Amino acid sequence: MAYEFGCRHAGSACDWKGRGATEEEVLEKVAEHARKKHKVTGATDTLVRYFRSTLRQT
Ligand SMILES: [Zn+2]
Repeated sequence: MAYEFGCRHAGSACDWKGRGATEEEVLEKVAEHARKKHKVTGATDTLVRYFRSTLRQT
């Protein structure tokens, strides 16, 4: 079982996807990607909650 996050699934016109064994692992990758590619500095609690809600279990 793994978790997958897709930027497109979260409403962004971006094909990046991140996977991880735990929610925390994926969310760390998402925060890093958001910082580098989407100029999102400091993932707020609200943002993290939203990202978490869009995670898919695979
Ligand atoms: Zn993206």
